[in-house]
This record gives sequence, C-alpha cells and structure tokens, in this order.
Amino acid sequence: MRYLIALSLFIVVYNTATAQHYKYIDSAKVMGLRSYRREVKEQPESRLVEIKKYIPGIALDIRYATTNNFTHQRMYPQAKAFARLPVVLALKAVEDDLKAQGLGLKIYDAYRPYSITVKFYETTPDTNFVADPRRGSKHNRGCAIDLGLINLKTGKDLDMPTGFDSFSRKAAANYPDLPALEITNREILKNAMQAHGFKVIATEWWHFDFNGWQKFPLLDISFAAVD
Ligand SMILES: [Zn+2]
Repeated sequence: MRYLIALSLFIVVYNTATAQHYKYIDSAKVMGLRSYRREVKEQPESRLVEIKKYIPGIALDIRYATTNNFTHQRMYPQAKAFARLPVVLALKAVEDDLKAQGLGLKIYDAYRPYSITVKFYETTPDTNFVADPRRGSKHNRGCAIDLGLINLKTGKDLDMPTGFDSFSRKAAANYPDLPALEITNREILKNAMQAHGFKVIATEWWHFDFNGWQKFPLLDISFAAVD
C-alpha cells in the first residue's frame, strides 16, 4: 500500500513537472512530445513527415526560418516543411497533376508548433491577421499548407494577387478586381488543391486546409524532434 501511494505520488509529481502549461488554451488540448510519440506508435499513418522526403522536387521558401516575414524575426531554427502523412500524400498527387502542365509547388509554411502560434499572436495581437491561440491553427495540427506556384522550367514564381502573408484585401481567395493572369494562376492552384482534398481559406489565396483536419490534434513539438 505504502508502495502504491509512493508510486502514485511520483506519477503526479512527474506529470506536473513535464506537462507544458499554456496561457491561452486548455493545456490538455495541445499534444507534447511524449503523447505524440505514444500516438504515433499506435497510429503511424498519422505521423508528421518531412515533405521534401516524399516530394523531392518541391520548392521551399520557409519564410519563418528567415527574417522575411511579418514578425521580422526568425521563428524556426530550420528551413524545413513537415505535415501529417495523409496530407503529404495528397500534396504529392497535386504535384503530379501540376507537373503535367509544367508547373510546380513552392511551400512557404506547413506544420507550425503551437508555441510559435502563441508568439505570432503576441507579436501581432489581431486575430484578423494571425491565428487565435485560444483555438490554435490548422498549421499546429500538421494539416495546413501555405504555398504558391512556380514555372518548372525557369523556377520562377507565377504571378499571384499578392505576396505570401500580405494583409491586403487582394489576398482574399475570391478577390475579383485583379489582372486576368493573376486570377488564372490563383484558380489553377485552387483547383489543383481542391481536386485532392484541400480547401482554400477565404482570406488567404495561399493557405489550404486538409479536409479531415479535425482528426488530428494540436501539436507543440519542435522540428528537431520530428526528424
Ligand atoms: Zn497558413
């Protein structure tokens, strides 16, 4: 009996010491590394994977690993892109379709640890522009991708209505008053992504959520831990 009491006391103290506390959300809603590893052992098909390993031809411009982003700070230690395995397999199908038209994808952001979403909010506390840390972002679930199109022959970006992370009204996914070429390119991206299970969000032409994101919890694990 004394042993059991000591053991349960140890478990309580240990869990309190290791569990992360979050300011804006019920901390139980954000999965840390220990729970993530346990989940992945049971459901390896839902794990985070590095996108480049599955789609070697994909272009990356991971803005949050540079100072070229709205925070003007380097938020990621590595310029890498990760997402849940089913998301990456769907993205591969998009890439295959586009390749036939001489086009490729360029990723700006994918999986984002929850604690970075908190940092974004504390830099820019306006939920019209950044994800609300009370709900978290689909990026935190490994189920959202920010991306644009490139010409495979030249490697150059296709003309789009705005740059990535523009706070302009022109960034809206259906904004009508634009040069015809920008609308055409935006629609090519949208149609290719929608054909394989992604949905654009109304305010950002570059942001796509994976249908079924509800099944994947918010995560707060570092890039280094995924590798
Ligand atoms: Zn996004």
